[in-house]
Amino acid sequence: MLRCPRCAGSGVGRVGAERYYCWDCCIEFTVDKGEVRLYQLDEEGAAVELASVREGEGR
Ligand SMILES: [Zn+2]
Repeated sequence: MLRCPRCAGSGVGRVGAERYYCWDCCIEFTVDKGEVRLYQLDEEGAAVELASVREGEGR
């Protein structure tokens, strides 16, 4: 079960091929080759990248 990389909650829905949405923090994230990118949708609906997290690197 995929969990949100930000809040670690399980309220995650799939919205695209590699695209997920967390209902708890209202962010989107993508997973590509182990790299997780977080996006927040601004008021115009554009995805703004928040941060990228590489799994298996440092913390
Ligand atoms: Zn979340």
